[in-house]
Order: sequence, then structure tokens, then C-alpha cells
Amino acid sequence: MVRPCALEGAGKTIYKRFPQKYASGMDTKPSRKRPELSIVVPFFNEEANLPELYKQITETLTGKYDFEMIFVDDGSTDGGYEFLRKCHEADGRVQVIRFRRNFGQTAAMSAGFDFARGDVLIPLDADLQNDPADIPRMMDKLSEGYDIVSGWRKDRKDKAATRKLPSRIANWLIGRVTGVRLHDYGCTLKAYRREVLAETKLYGEMHRFIPALANWKGARITELAVNHRARTAGVSKYGLNRTVKVMLDLMTVRFLGSYSTKPIYVFGGLGMISMVLAFIFLVVAICQRIFGEKLHLNKNVLVTFTVLLVMMAIQFILMGLLAEIMVRTYHESQGRPTYVVRDRLGGPDDEGK
Ligand code: UDP
Ligand code: MG
Repeated sequence: MVRPCALEGAGKTIYKRFPQKYASGMDTKPSRKRPELSIVVPFFNEEANLPELYKQITETLTGKYDFEMIFVDDGSTDGGYEFLRKCHEADGRVQVIRFRRNFGQTAAMSAGFDFARGDVLIPLDADLQNDPADIPRMMDKLSEGYDIVSGWRKDRKDKAATRKLPSRIANWLIGRVTGVRLHDYGCTLKAYRREVLAETKLYGEMHRFIPALANWKGARITELAVNHRARTAGVSKYGLNRTVKVMLDLMTVRFLGSYSTKPIYVFGGLGMISMVLAFIFLVVAICQRIFGEKLHLNKNVLVTFTVLLVMMAIQFILMGLLAEIMVRTYHESQGRPTYVVRDRLGGPDDEGK
């Protein structure tokens, strides 16, 4: 028996019937084989949007794809989880993961990816700003031979000063630093082939960098303009401080992308620069002692700089050596190779051993 799927006491009775309408008479059992598509929805206090979101996803995809929906409750304090519990009981394609507390959108998305079984994974905002109607077009684009289709909110319905402007600058900067130029890193709606997400661990605000991380592993990426709608219910969960976090994450991503297997090149390089500067300062100081104004070395500030720079150089190089040890521990203890293989012809059967 299909049960009503309304939010009790929230006056949302207009949705009372939709689980029956969309769930009954269709194949809503969780499929045993891998579904084609997993929709991953992280949400935090989006009670007012979830019923309409569920309705739109199922309306768009039922009959077209074999799909599952994974809702990740990122520590909400409203009735969203109860609503989804009822959806889950009525519709086997709905999975719900509930966090013990608010861990952030990236962690929630990461959990969704971990539990998803689909061949294609599509994250979506729960606030209805992304439009599920774009999903079939993204699937078509993927089938042209891409690994990632990145949504681009071409006509973005957000505040200009606190959202669109910082986002433009951030996108430009991320594009330059990572070498993967996308118009809209921040758009949650993206389609990923499962393989590109394997072994991609997400920290901080890093879900937006997945295209860049995947590109370093050789993924083929394209963009698709998607619909964007203004938020009509609930409140935005972010302020301007997200920009700062994104910038710091960008530094991390850049470092990990270019130098994670050879950190001594970065630290050693800085150490070398310090050494060279120290040497130049010392030579200048000696020249000043002998030829110029006969300045005593112990009164020359350049000598102080030399000492400082030599100490910094030693620190940098030691830090580089430590990082090298850590890289080896990381890769060797977990059996992670330092390369990514696309295909292999011939050779032993047991995966590269
Ligand atoms: N979100 C989340 N955990 C958080 C913050 C946000 O799961 O700690 C979800 C939120 O419910 C929404 C999505 O992430 O589904 C995007 O958040 P929001 O709409 O507040 O961001 P904006 O669109 O304003 O950039
Ligand atoms: Mg939003």
C-alpha cells in the first residue's frame, strides 16, 4: 500500500497524492543490477523544496532511465527526513542517508557518490535552483563520448554582488590555475561517469574541483548550458566566506595536482631560491666591505638577511624531504600507483600484477 507522502503539520497537502501518482503502476523497485543513473541530492534544511524536487525528478526520468535517487540529509533540523522516509517506503528508488550533524555540502555529496551504484552520477541542488529537466540532455551529451558534462548556469538567477561577481572571478581564476577552463565550476548539476569519481576523495569545498581533478587523470570534459531558477523557498546556506574557502582549496588542488608525487620540487625549489638570494646578499655585503663604503659586515643588514635566508633554505629542503617520505608512505602503504591506466591489451589477468 502506498502511503501519503506529505509533510505533517507543514500544510503541504497539495503533495499528498504525488507518491501514488508517480510511484504506483511503474517500476519503482530498487533494481538489483546497477541502475543507469544515480541522482545525488545533498540537502540541509530544505523541507519546503523536497516534495517538489522529488516530483520533478520522477516526472522527468521515470520511463526514460533506470535510475535511483540518493538523498543525503546533511544534519537537517526540519522535517525533510520524515518526508523522505515516506517517499522511500512508497518508492524503492529512493535512498536516504542521514548524517549525524551538518558536515557540509561536499561531504554530503561525497557520501552520496560512495553509496551510488549507477553508471552515471548526477548531483543536484535540493533547493530547486537546478532543473531536473536538463538531465536527459546531459545524458545525451555524455553518450557522445565524454566522461563529464559540466552544467553552466548561463542565465544565473542569483544576487549579482554576492554570488555572480565572486563566482565569475573564481571561475576565471580556477580555469587559469588548473588549466581546465569552465564557465561554471560552482554549478552542482554535472554528470559524471562513475570511473572518473573512483578514488576521488573530496575535502573542504572541493566538489567544485572534480572536473579539474578528473582532467588530471585524463577525463574528457564538456560543458552544457543548463536552466537555473531563483530560490523560492528556504534560505541560502552560504555567505561570502565561501569564496575564501574556495580560494584556499584551489591552492591545495593545484599543489596536489602538480606536485603531489614530487613535493621536493616545490620545497626544494623554494630552498634553492633562498640559497641563491643568500649568496647574492653575502657577495654584495663583502663587496661593500672591500670596495664601497667599507661597511663592517656585522653592521650590514644584508648579512642578517643572508643568515635568515640560509635558515629558510634549510627548512624548505627538510620540509621537502619530509613530504617525499609522506608521499611514499601514502602511495606504497595503500598500493596506490602514481599513474592512471585507461586500457590495457594483453598481459597478466590480475590487474597489473
Ligand atoms: N547544502 C548542504 N549542506 C550545507 C550547505 C548546503 O547539503 O552545509 C545544500 C543545500 O541544501 C542545497 C545545496 O547544498 O541543496 C546548495 O546550497 P545553497 O542553495 O544554499 O547554495 P547557493 O545556491 O546559495 O550557492
Ligand atoms: Mg541554491
